[in-house]
Amino acid sequence: MPSLILLLGGKGKRFGGKKQFLTFEGKFLFELLLKRIEDLFTEIVLVAPEEDLNWLKDRFPQFKFAKSGKERQFSVYNGLKEVTQEVVVVHDGARPLAGRKLFEEALNLGDCDGKIPVIPLRDTVKEVSPEGEVIRTIPREGLFAVQTPQGFKTEVLKECHGRALEENFLGTDDAVLLERCQKRVCTFGGKVTNLKITYPEDWEIAKCLLRSLEKY
Ligand code: C5P
Repeated sequence: MPSLILLLGGKGKRFGGKKQFLTFEGKFLFELLLKRIEDLFTEIVLVAPEEDLNWLKDRFPQFKFAKSGKERQFSVYNGLKEVTQEVVVVHDGARPLAGRKLFEEALNLGDCDGKIPVIPLRDTVKEVSPEGEVIRTIPREGLFAVQTPQGFKTEVLKECHGRALEENFLGTDDAVLLERCQKRVCTFGGKVTNLKITYPEDWEIAKCLLRSLEKY
């Protein structure tokens, strides 16, 4: 059975606070998420800021822990050191609405080195200057927005993280690190309801979705 790295690091600058510890009906969002999926994993590594590790360890003795880094990529790197299984799924705590089916798809790697959820872009995409003027329109055919959970062969992910570190490359997800070392990354259908809580308005939408979660 695979391992799960759940990312709870970062300062939530765009959100205006630590969004990873938001609660709904008295439970942390990550608790609600883990309740839906924890039986899929042999071990679960929570990656959190150093100042939160003590209370988290007291409250959730069943999980493993790692210290988050300055950037998301370093948080995953730290979490990977705790992983003992052949397959690992990396998930952003900022996507607490992710359903069980996405995790089942991500960890079912087949002959892929990595597997990631994607959704076709629905909006028209434009490049805009810092002054707010349109530079050009980018054809959206073949373009996809990428989500987590992302599943990987643990050894491959470790190798590609090591390479990225050596080469000072910083990515916004883990799949890009595999792309850079010519590994095979496959995709599956993501979900629009697998919302990422980034701005305060996302939290308002997430609350509505949480009230009707069974539907997704
Ligand atoms: O900030 P952003 O929403 O892009 O973060 C994506 C995910 O990465 C979040 O779940 C956040 O908790 C995590 N993260 C982290 N360590 C950081 C920055 C972000 O674990 N240094």
